[in-house]
Amino acid sequence: MPVTSTAPVALLAPAPERPIADQRPNADERGPGPVVTEVFEVLLERALADADLPPVTLAELRGRIPVPAVDVEAAVAHLVARADVRGVATGLELTDSGRERARTAVRRHRLVERMLADLVGLEWWKVHHEAARFDGVISADVEAKLIEQLGDPGTCPHGNPIPGSHNQPRHPDAVLLADAPVGPVHVVRITETLEGDDEALQLLQNCGFLPGRDAEIKDRRDGWVEVAGTVHDAAFPHHLASHTYVAPR
Ligand SMILES: [Zn+2]
Repeated sequence: MPVTSTAPVALLAPAPERPIADQRPNADERGPGPVVTEVFEVLLERALADADLPPVTLAELRGRIPVPAVDVEAAVAHLVARADVRGVATGLELTDSGRERARTAVRRHRLVERMLADLVGLEWWKVHHEAARFDGVISADVEAKLIEQLGDPGTCPHGNPIPGSHNQPRHPDAVLLADAPVGPVHVVRITETLEGDDEALQLLQNCGFLPGRDAEIKDRRDGWVEVAGTVHDAAFPHHLASHTYVAPR
């Protein structure tokens, strides 16, 4: 059939779409990579600590973040170059802008972990690694919806505080499991060092020694801590006990 319209072709054609490449967030909108988020987690934890602790050192970051040391160093160099982190005499600390970026990155990471655990039903021990796949691409709009849908949770599934939440739990009496006396306890949180340790996470999940639940310390022997979780008893090595916080009850 012949085309009868005399309108110029340009008026008939749909408005040109922005090429896909232009719709991607630019470098500033894009979130941090997973190792940068982990560096942020450690530095923010130190900045918010109640106790007067020395600044985080590069050696401490290398020891606490379970990825190759060169990746930790590259993440720190990136953060120093964009003035989110500065070196001080005894270590590293967040600048004002870095603190804001750290709060946002850590909040999005922990909200995505909550989404995966509470809405998707992913196993608790898997949510940290899974969240790292896409927490860096969460927009402010999606972040706000997640806060609403999840009921503004106070912590991630590992018990670590979500910056900006109105529901942050207070556990001033929390101590490391390695230092806690024998007796009933409430499991408060595990550090981000254990969040990257699949073996430790599975041990905690299998015996039911999980943040937010009650448990018991039964004995301690040769550096091991014997506990009763909600599922069964287990013995935890010192490394695990020195990255898990509990509150006596
Ligand atoms: Zn977490």
